Amino acid sequence: MRIILLGPPGAGKGTQAEKLVKKYKIPHISTGDIFRAALQEGTELGLRAKEYMDQGELVPDDLVVDIVKERLEQEDAQNGYLLDGFPRTLAQAEALDESLRASGTPLTGVINISVDPQELLERLTGRRVCRGCGATYHIKFNPPTVRSVCDKCGGELYQREDDTVETVKQRLEVYRQQTAPLIEYYGRKGILFTVDGSQEIDEVFRAITTILDRQQ
Ligand code: ADP
Ligand code: ADP
Ligand code: ZN
Repeated sequence: MRIILLGPPGAGKGTQAEKLVKKYKIPHISTGDIFRAALQEGTELGLRAKEYMDQGELVPDDLVVDIVKERLEQEDAQNGYLLDGFPRTLAQAEALDESLRASGTPLTGVINISVDPQELLERLTGRRVCRGCGATYHIKFNPPTVRSVCDKCGGELYQREDDTVETVKQRLEVYRQQTAPLIEYYGRKGILFTVDGSQEIDEVFRAITTILDRQQ
């Protein structure tokens, strides 16, 4: 199963990805996670990406595309994968298509998680992430059992530097201009499925798995 999760920042891609990769036993490939891990390790890639992430801008296409291509060649991605946060521009989508055409491994489907813009701001500014395992929480909508402690691994929860009101607004604008056109792009290919992301987390999950189980 080769899936893309599409949707604005805060739509619930990471939250659903965590659950989907467990169910379908495929790797979770998040370009945002890759950049944050690179930054933590202090690599050149991490430092370059940070300049853009801090501004709420997209990291340049050539940098992102090479990283994803390399990641998709790894052993664990040979039986499928879930892409979260990639592609985010038409150029990225076209580069991915070309590479999948060359390897004869078409996408199973693109899941578009749709949520009203007003709700996204509250979701993102209340988001907390685990330093240990990357699990995602929300102070109001999906709180951990013990404040600031991850239910899954006991790790410390933190707020991402780009989850501030100002940067979030910029990211939503970047989404509208550069990423939203992908809805039409994949729609034309007949592999787009839209789910209502404003429902409860478990209901969104059920909607997605119903679609994917039909596609298998
Ligand atoms: P994305 O990866 O698309 O940016 P996340 O999965 O990180 O989004 O979710 C953004 C925030 O919204 C997180 O704090 C998460 O806990 C919360 N969230 C995710 N799905 C829902 C939902 N269905 N209802 C309410 N809050 C949600
Ligand atoms: P979100 O929760 O907003 O969906 P991500 O963790 O996916 O955030 O991405 C965080 C930041 O990393 C983005 O704002 C952008 O700067 C960078 N980034 C992640 N994926 C991509 C991509 N495919 N193309 C360009 N930049 C990306
Ligand atoms: Zn954790």
